[in-house]
Amino acid sequence: MNRADVHKLPKVELHSHLDGSVPMEVLMEMAEEKGWPKEMMKEAVAPADCEDLKDYLSGFDVILSVLQSEKNLERAAYAVIKEAHKENVKYMELRFGPLLHQAEGLTTKETIRAVSKGVKNATEDFPIAVNILICALRNYSEEENTELFREVHDIADECVVGIDVAGDEARYPNECVASALSEAKTLGFQMTIHSGECGCANSVLTAMHLGATRIGHGVAVKDDPEAMQKVKEGNVLLELCPTSNIQTRAVSGWDAYPLRQFLDEGVAVSINTDNRTVSNTTLTDEWMLCIEHCQVTYQEIKDLSLTAMKHSFANAEVKASVTSTIEEQFDHYVK
Ligand SMILES: [Zn+2]
Repeated sequence: MNRADVHKLPKVELHSHLDGSVPMEVLMEMAEEKGWPKEMMKEAVAPADCEDLKDYLSGFDVILSVLQSEKNLERAAYAVIKEAHKENVKYMELRFGPLLHQAEGLTTKETIRAVSKGVKNATEDFPIAVNILICALRNYSEEENTELFREVHDIADECVVGIDVAGDEARYPNECVASALSEAKTLGFQMTIHSGECGCANSVLTAMHLGATRIGHGVAVKDDPEAMQKVKEGNVLLELCPTSNIQTRAVSGWDAYPLRQFLDEGVAVSINTDNRTVSNTTLTDEWMLCIEHCQVTYQEIKDLSLTAMKHSFANAEVKASVTSTIEEQFDHYVK
C-alpha cells in the first residue's frame, strides 16, 4: 500500500478539534494581522513526546489567542475542512468549545454562528459533509457547562449534531461534569466524551453511564477486559487518535497500541487525527501508521470507515449518501 493510494481513499473523521487543526499558514496570517510575530504560532505544535495530556494541551493557548473573532472562527472552520477535503475526507465531525472563544467578548451564539458559516461555505465549495460537535470544558464550572448546553439547544443550528466534553481528565474527572451532562441528556443531545485518555478505564464506564454512545480515545480499556466487554455490549465506538494517544502517553508506544486488539475483540473503533496542527498529522498519516504498525488492510480501512459512518451523529440521509460514496470509491482499491 502506498501513501498516494491511501491519500486518495474516501475517509471519515469523527474526532477533529477545530482549534487544534487550523493550518499553520492560516494561524500565522492571523498572528500577523494582529501585529504579532508569526513565529509565535510554532508553539502550537506539541512535542512528539509530551509529559502528559496537560503538557499537550498547553500548545492551544497560542492558537486560542487568534481565534477570538467571528471572522477568524469562520476562516478557521473553512481552512480545516479544505485540508480534510484534500485527502478525500467525505464526512467529518468538527468539534469546538465556544467558551474558549469568548475572551474578547463573543457570545456562545456568535461563536457557533461563525463556525457554522465556515462549515456551510466549505461544504458548498467541496464535496464533503461536515457537522459540528460542541465541547464543554472540564475546567469550567457545572453551571457554565449546563448553561452552554441550554444555549446550544436554544440556538438549534442545523450543523450542530452533538456534544462532547474535553480538557484535563486527570484533574477534572467525569464526575465534575455529571450534572451538566445530565441536563444535556434531558435536552436530547447525542454525546461523545473524552475518556480513558489518562489511564483510567473506569472513566470510560462513567462516560457511558452519563449517556455517551462514543468515547474520545477510550484506549485505557485495553488493560481492563471487563470494561472492554461493557464497551462492546453497549455498542459504543472508541474514537482512536493514534499519534495524539502516543504523544500524550495515553499509550506508551506503537508496541502497546491496542488497534489490533480492539479489532480482534470486535470493539467498534474509528481512526482520527484529534488535532492536525498540534499533532502535526493528517488522516492519511494516521492510516499509514496503522498500516505500518498494525498491518491494517484496505478492506479494514473500508470497514472501519463504514463503522465510523454508522456511529456518526449525522442524519440518516447523510449517512446513506456517504456510505454509498465510500462503497463506490473503495471499489477501485478493494476487490
Ligand atoms: Zn480530542
